Amino acid sequence: MEKVLQVNDLHVSFSTYGGEVKAVRGVSFDLHKGETLAIVGESGCGKSVTSQSIMRLIPEPPGKISGGEIIFKNIDLIKLKEPELQKIRGANISMIFQDPMTALNPTITIGEQIMEGIIQHEKLSRAQAKRVAVEMLTLVGIPNPELRLKQYPHQFSGGMRQRIVIAMALVCRPDVLIADEPTTALDVTIQAQILELFRDIQKKTGVSIILITHDLGVVAQVADRIAVMYAGRIVELGTRREIFYQPQHPYTKGLLQSVPRLDAEKAELVPIPGTPPDLFSPPVGCAFAARCPYAMEVCERVYPIETHISQQHQVDCWLQDERAKKLVSSFK
Ligand code: SF4
Ligand code: MG
Repeated sequence: MEKVLQVNDLHVSFSTYGGEVKAVRGVSFDLHKGETLAIVGESGCGKSVTSQSIMRLIPEPPGKISGGEIIFKNIDLIKLKEPELQKIRGANISMIFQDPMTALNPTITIGEQIMEGIIQHEKLSRAQAKRVAVEMLTLVGIPNPELRLKQYPHQFSGGMRQRIVIAMALVCRPDVLIADEPTTALDVTIQAQILELFRDIQKKTGVSIILITHDLGVVAQVADRIAVMYAGRIVELGTRREIFYQPQHPYTKGLLQSVPRLDAEKAELVPIPGTPPDLFSPPVGCAFAARCPYAMEVCERVYPIETHISQQHQVDCWLQDERAKKLVSSFK
């Protein structure tokens, strides 16, 4: 499988008056061509910080990428300077956010806004740029594109605005699209339509998508692979099937149990007791230990490094690791 992006041992921290918050603590994953990789976890787990680091949108200071590599087309994005990053943002890697209104300028027609991206990155004439804009609106399912180009954001519904934002993100045919909670602000029916749109676009363009969400329902609909993050680390990574049907990490299992099931008579949410650890001084061992019903002594002492369950499925948990026994005997 062709890799379009590789994140290796990424560390990101933020300095605050209270000390240094270690928001991302050694995250690694590959993004394959044409796939949707979902990064899931509770708020504050580091999923948004990870995606913003790929776009190099972490405000430095107070943020800091303190280690690792982000490899795109044989270049480490962490080493690039702002002018080089500007060429990559939008043209090669683009990003859409939760609230479409923040991405759109209310005083400019959507045609001008879409064309701006094209003219900036690809030296096209206005007539050519307009043709691409019409093409893009058609791609994202907006009827009467010629006419709609002349309208302003407030003349569109929330779902339509998110379609426009997606059109803007795709206008330069990026290799990677990062979508951070793209449907959270939308109601359920519109949400389903936008997710369908992602699948459709992916089929037509082959774009690779990183989908950041806390919503496992969304993940179930579109993800090829799923990375589960907890306290700044990926604790489990696998195909959608593996994560939903053979979850290995107690945190993943807890997350799945906390999803209301549509087919169940009573949709009961089972929250995971406890709260994530303080990331000023994260635990040396497994960060989930304080909430984990299976925690052992080894869990608190040593971090459980990556055990492979299958070729694509990996987990950071001592329960799945043969090496745990040896470590336990070494404590005595
Ligand atoms: Fe629970 Fe230990 Fe696995 Fe952490 S490593 S999830 S504490 S069993
Ligand atoms: Mg977030």
